[in-house]
Amino acid sequence: MGRNTTIVRANYGIDGNSEFYSHSLKLWEDMEQELNYNTMMSQRGIINLFHSDGQRDAFAKRGNMMISQGDDAIMLGRDEIREMLPYISYDNPRFPVYGGLYHPRGGTARHDAVAWGFARGADQRGVDIIQQCEVTGIDIENGVVRGVQTSRGPIRAKKVAIVVAGRSSQVAAMAGMRLPIESHVLQAFVTEGLKPCVDHVISFGMGHFYLSQSDKGGLVFGGDIDFYASYASRGNLHMAEHVMEAGMALMPMIGRAKVLRSWGGIMDMTPDGSPFIDRTQTEGLFINCGWCYGGFKAVPGSGKCFAHLMATGDYPPAASKLRLDRLARGHVIDEEATGSQHNLH
Ligand SMILES: Cc1cc2nc3c(=O)[nH]c(=O)nc-3n(C[C@H](O)[C@H](O)[C@H](O)COP(=O)(O)OP(=O)(O)OC[C@H]3O[C@@H](n4cnc5c(N)ncnc54)[C@H](O)[C@@H]3O)c2cc1C
Repeated sequence: MGRNTTIVRANYGIDGNSEFYSHSLKLWEDMEQELNYNTMMSQRGIINLFHSDGQRDAFAKRGNMMISQGDDAIMLGRDEIREMLPYISYDNPRFPVYGGLYHPRGGTARHDAVAWGFARGADQRGVDIIQQCEVTGIDIENGVVRGVQTSRGPIRAKKVAIVVAGRSSQVAAMAGMRLPIESHVLQAFVTEGLKPCVDHVISFGMGHFYLSQSDKGGLVFGGDIDFYASYASRGNLHMAEHVMEAGMALMPMIGRAKVLRSWGGIMDMTPDGSPFIDRTQTEGLFINCGWCYGGFKAVPGSGKCFAHLMATGDYPPAASKLRLDRLARGHVIDEEATGSQHNLH
């Protein structure tokens, strides 16, 4: 899993997504025990702020959908928010804080610890992990996958899985597939280490801005994708400016902190903002992609569902709607209701 802002949550509303992310969050809760590894899972709670009556209604609806799925959601008023988040601006006349949707079981986990934990667990179970090895071709004979070509030579295989996120379109093209995916850059930023001051993950309702404080003390924050398709894993300044402005509007104190670093990663954006876990038209070739900017929280659910599909050939209930043909069938899972536009999800 790539370098990211490490947020895990199950606050989706639409069928297809909600059961999947609910399943995934439950797996996160047991992961440290199962891997016997400290992934620094911290269920510190996520608060999505709202700033108008209309937004309150939308979040009340989302909270009810989360509760119907069996997850946790609590609507908080302005006074409760003020007690929990004393550091944000309540006097901003343009974006007054009306309240927030609180998801107590959401939080963060350390991304690289999760990768190390999984790598160690896989190794203990006899999996070979070959690093610095690029797949350059997929061998297919009469519609059946036979293996892959790599920068270190060919590897024969009866089953092949494509799980390459932002590079999905390029690798799938090696098997003659054209995916409904665009690759876009998403940036994130980290400040110098500060004393503990932000206890939760918070998001601003009037601009794309979200923030948490890492265990090292840095404020970790981000916003929207850069809005145009690109394979460049570096961010652009217009989005950096937008994110900083949103941060200043929400919590002016952030202006005192020094940003130490930023980075950009390539996101596999789908037209409806939801992922794919499926087989392909080539026998033995499977694909797992389209995580947009939410694939970290999906890690255990995605891995388990994908392994189930590859091992048994059956779609696991939690991922049965994440099929490649759903767009052609008109069964979109458009969580944000923004329509068929990759850069709006
Ligand atoms: C700045 C940022 C913040 C984010 N924040 C969050 C967040 O808070 N919460 C959340 O849930 N998600 C977040 N995400 C999204 C999340 O990181 C991704 O969705 C997730 O990492 C995707 O996981 P993956 O395993 O599918 O792909 P990746 O983690 O991208 O792994 C794909 C791997 O495939 C390899 N690869 C590519 N091409 C080839 C090839 N030809 N041959 C061999 N290997 C290849 C790559 O090197 C890479 O190692 C964020 C992403 C970014 C960039």
